[in-house]
Amino acid sequence: MRYVSTRGAAPELGFCDVLLAGLANDGGLYMPTEWPSLPDLSGTRSYAEAAAAIMSPFVSDDIPADVFAQLCTEAYATFRHDAVVPLVQIGADEWLLEQFHGPTLAFKDVALQLVGRLFDYVLAERGQRVTIVGATSGDTGSAAIDGVKSCSNVDIVILYPQGRTSDVQRRQMTTVDSPNVHTVAVEGTFDDCQDLVKAMFNDAPFRERMNLSAVNSINWARVMAQIVYYVTASRSLGATADHGATFSVPTGNFGNVLSGWIARTMGAPINDFIVASNSNDILTRFINANDMTAREVMPTLSPSMDIQVSSNFERLLFEMNGRDGGQTAEQLQRFRHTGSLQVEPDQVSAWITPMFRAARIDDTQTLAEIRRVYRASGELIDPHTATGTAAVHSLRATDAGRPVITLATAHPAKFPDAVQRATGVYPALPAHLADLFERPERTNLVANDLADVERFVERAVAR
Ligand SMILES: *Cc1c(COP(=O)(O)O)cnc(C)c1O
Repeated sequence: MRYVSTRGAAPELGFCDVLLAGLANDGGLYMPTEWPSLPDLSGTRSYAEAAAAIMSPFVSDDIPADVFAQLCTEAYATFRHDAVVPLVQIGADEWLLEQFHGPTLAFKDVALQLVGRLFDYVLAERGQRVTIVGATSGDTGSAAIDGVKSCSNVDIVILYPQGRTSDVQRRQMTTVDSPNVHTVAVEGTFDDCQDLVKAMFNDAPFRERMNLSAVNSINWARVMAQIVYYVTASRSLGATADHGATFSVPTGNFGNVLSGWIARTMGAPINDFIVASNSNDILTRFINANDMTAREVMPTLSPSMDIQVSSNFERLLFEMNGRDGGQTAEQLQRFRHTGSLQVEPDQVSAWITPMFRAARIDDTQTLAEIRRVYRASGELIDPHTATGTAAVHSLRATDAGRPVITLATAHPAKFPDAVQRATGVYPALPAHLADLFERPERTNLVANDLADVERFVERAVAR
């Protein structure tokens, strides 16, 4: 399988190069040249086996099948449920797909546990070493750290805004005791952290000296790993081509829902998708009114969805444009200048209306929904998941008699205050994290200053 850039001006690459590159050098995102059909899964006995089979066409030219199968086995052995992502019924035709049984209790583990192992394998084969740098406001940092903490060929440095993450989120990063993991509390905001990371990448001598790399949500390998559960979940509920499932997806960067679209394209029995957003509703406005205008980001109870520019939407846009990279690049350039993306109405009616519905769920509705689901089913759900189930109900999606599956993207104990406010119940951390607040923290306070941060990275990695 070869990969092309959504902006049409970067060289075609194979899987391993795409994995390490992240972004294409024309600023675009990598996409496979074609969509393979799903394999026969009747002989697969576990999630890891299904994962290896479903992803095989994307990697098989570059990674031997037995190696890839082993990496999948190891990645999904870190999940504390035999089903990896179990389905839990919360209504007559309604299920949660629990994606939070991984090490850091959020759906990003599903991809990052595999991506960390893929990085380590490819770097070892090539005799290379990289320094992954990233900024986080919470979930991504801990999932990335956990994904690479045992890698021999990767150092990771994660910047977070001092005093602005939750205690659980910070401790999930700062209590990891591995020599290749470095956390930095920056005296600034999340935007300052992101600007520092961008500035490090733009400092070419530094970038080359440190062999900087990233594992952000635009990395193709993350999108690829997320295809699997759409296939396994829809099949295990008995969905068929004529009677496909509906998935409701709490959405930020559009990565998770894009993976669902790919699963459907490959032949998974999926009817359509519900894109759930919080008050940061650019995607809901686009899907419902062809209005993709960026607004100021508003903080909400579901911080991992507090995003105004959904970077992975570019991949669907590329498909909507008949895979014309020049046209895609032009639209995105205009979006950057004007803050508004223009798409032809007939593209919306061909690509969006038949497959995507959307709803915006604000914080008040989110709390009411956490309470409703608890009363109706006894399940505690987190605020991100609640936007998904609330969207199902606001669109009356269960009326069609199809299985409706909401992706439960975070464990309720990651957002205990909101859950307690809604239900009166304080959700406990699972056993493996029960002593999180007793573990020693290791972190470094650094000023909001590029030279200081670069000096820190250089020293930390040299060790
Ligand atoms: C990252 C994240 C999301 C959003 O996923 P995207 O792929 O960015 O759309 C939703 N919920 C939780 C808990 C997350 O961590």
